[in-house]
Amino acid sequence: MKIGVNCGHTVSGQPGCGAVGLIDESVETRAVGKRLIEILKKAGHTVADCTNDHAKSTSENLAEIVRMANAQPLDLFVSIHFNSGGGKGSEVYTYGCQHHAEAVAACEKLHALGFVNRGVKDGSDLYVIHRTAAKSMLVEVCFVDTASDVDLYHKLGAQRVAEAIAEAITGGHSEGGGEMTQTQYEELKKEINGLKPMIYDYMDDNMPSWAKPTVQKLLDKGIFAGGSDGRLGLTDEMLRIFVINDRAGLYG
Ligand SMILES: [Zn+2]
Repeated sequence: MKIGVNCGHTVSGQPGCGAVGLIDESVETRAVGKRLIEILKKAGHTVADCTNDHAKSTSENLAEIVRMANAQPLDLFVSIHFNSGGGKGSEVYTYGCQHHAEAVAACEKLHALGFVNRGVKDGSDLYVIHRTAAKSMLVEVCFVDTASDVDLYHKLGAQRVAEAIAEAITGGHSEGGGEMTQTQYEELKKEINGLKPMIYDYMDDNMPSWAKPTVQKLLDKGIFAGGSDGRLGLTDEMLRIFVINDRAGLYG
């Protein structure tokens, strides 16, 4: 298999770094993720390390992770995280809450180590899930601010956790699989992007140029309040409707 592995956020203390509780997410995602990369490589898989250590902001960190992931064809993109907020156990996010084998297995393998199985959840609005071309999953190993989770994690060690995730990824896939040509990859990427609707959160290079004047007009008029996190959350469909309305003179 060809697998992209992302060790969560930037390094500890930097813009875009992870949550800190009893343990530090940025430190532990690297402890688990780098071991996961080694295990997968030893098993003969091709691994792209999609970890970004330094960025000016969270959005730059996320864009860089996705750029690294989409630089080559991948069978699977895996992002390693640790949760915060006082819950208990492991959960895995996928696009559209797809219960693909690797995601279900990751929940089960972590549960077998003793973590509560919080299940597969909808990660459609997570940047690294919806912007990556490959099948993707984001694993929240456990909670950095829950003592029982952290105790169990320390008892197991990062290696055991990495092995569990590796087993989930490779279960049923023993070797490298068919090689894909760049052309086949580009075609597959187009196909997958068709299934994963783009979500435009910012007025940046991703925003189609035909939609920019309309979106800017609506921003200027204060019509887009954006979510609590300031993201626009616009789909292609919404862009098309706004532009048609604009051309019909609805927005002056
Ligand atoms: Zn995280």
